[in-house]
Amino acid sequence: MSTMCEYPLKRTQNYPSLINNKMRYYIIEEPDIHYESIDEEDENYDNSAQNVILNEIEEEPDAYENSPCYSESIVESYPIYDENDRQRSEKIVVIPRKLLVPIRNQRFLSKGNFSLDKKMLLLSGPCHMNWNDYHRLSVIHAFMDNLEQDFPSVCTTVTIGHSLEGRELKVLKISNSDASNASVWLDAGIHAREWIAPAVATYIADHLARNFNNLPQSVTNKDWYFLPVFNPDGYEYSHTKERMWRKNRAWHGGQCVGVDLNRNFSYGWGGKGSSDIPTNAFYRGPEPFSEPESCAVRDVLLNSGIRFKIYITLHSYGQVIIFPFAFRDELCPDYVRLLEGATAMSKAIYETTGNTYKVGISRDVMYGAAGTSNDWSYGAAEIPYCYLIELRSKQHKFKLPRQEIEETGKEILSCVKTLMEFVDNYTESKIGEEKSEEEITISP
Ligand SMILES: [Zn+2]
Repeated sequence: MSTMCEYPLKRTQNYPSLINNKMRYYIIEEPDIHYESIDEEDENYDNSAQNVILNEIEEEPDAYENSPCYSESIVESYPIYDENDRQRSEKIVVIPRKLLVPIRNQRFLSKGNFSLDKKMLLLSGPCHMNWNDYHRLSVIHAFMDNLEQDFPSVCTTVTIGHSLEGRELKVLKISNSDASNASVWLDAGIHAREWIAPAVATYIADHLARNFNNLPQSVTNKDWYFLPVFNPDGYEYSHTKERMWRKNRAWHGGQCVGVDLNRNFSYGWGGKGSSDIPTNAFYRGPEPFSEPESCAVRDVLLNSGIRFKIYITLHSYGQVIIFPFAFRDELCPDYVRLLEGATAMSKAIYETTGNTYKVGISRDVMYGAAGTSNDWSYGAAEIPYCYLIELRSKQHKFKLPRQEIEETGKEILSCVKTLMEFVDNYTESKIGEEKSEEEITISP
């Protein structure tokens, strides 16, 4: 089950806090699902509640028809905008009829009103996760819940916030709860169309959860935080409407233009490699951290009290490993250390699958970018090891065939494990150096 963060989170000022707002829910029946499975004898069955809800939806026929989620989604929602583009607090939740059974069984359905916390429970339904295909958000979230259920001693799910359209920003923590652990953050899917990134993030999380006790110490001495879908609204949109959608689903001037969340971070915000034109693919937003998705990640990395040592963000495509800075030409003070780490990561990939990943700073191996999460994590959150990995492939670009998901997962798992080893060895050798220096000065 998902739980809210135990640590204080600052909420963005620009958007209403969806979880605290009173919302009306509408449940729409899925026309293709038959009702035989509904157990009429069930004491929790409340037929009148369903009728009430179905009547309510008729008052919003436009919203119903335009629902981006009314298709095969398990549970989806979207905000309604008034004529001034202001978001109202009402939402529509589309729940296929087949799911009304588990809802009823868990006593959630009460005159069509239930809280978002209860909605989360619905997502822990049947999960069909695998790495032979790309999956919708609901499957990815259910997969995370299932890992928590199956490996409760190491896995916890946490909701760190909600997207603009009210979807969960769901994090899976994997840890043996040793207080001396360093922390690793790994996110993916900040750009909607880069489907291989969430697939690889879940592949790594799955491997860690299932094999935790047999993994090297450099992996188990870390607290791992996975955010596989950083931009859930965009991700779903890229599945349902526009495969090549990149940004989130922010509105501007009466239309949904989207903000590039990887240009919305404050460090170096507004510089070259970002745009102030809302319809541009690299639109950085009206101000730094104007979006709830980037705010939620900022708040965990900066204000949670968790000391992150490693930040990894997965993108596609290009097969490159990039470290700060992307927003300026000058090398960062830790250039050599970060380059050594990237080189070790690239070597691990090559040794796993024979694939080559270039390493370097963004301007050298890709193009410059300002307001990125990677620069911010290093420059503002002061996380010592920050890497952006552009996954496969140069040939297929954003549309990596699903047959390559597992191979990509394997090579990046090996790459990430190697980074952990590098970080631990580097720290130890530095401590060794410091000690020997001390000895020299103390005993002349
Ligand atoms: Zn990207």
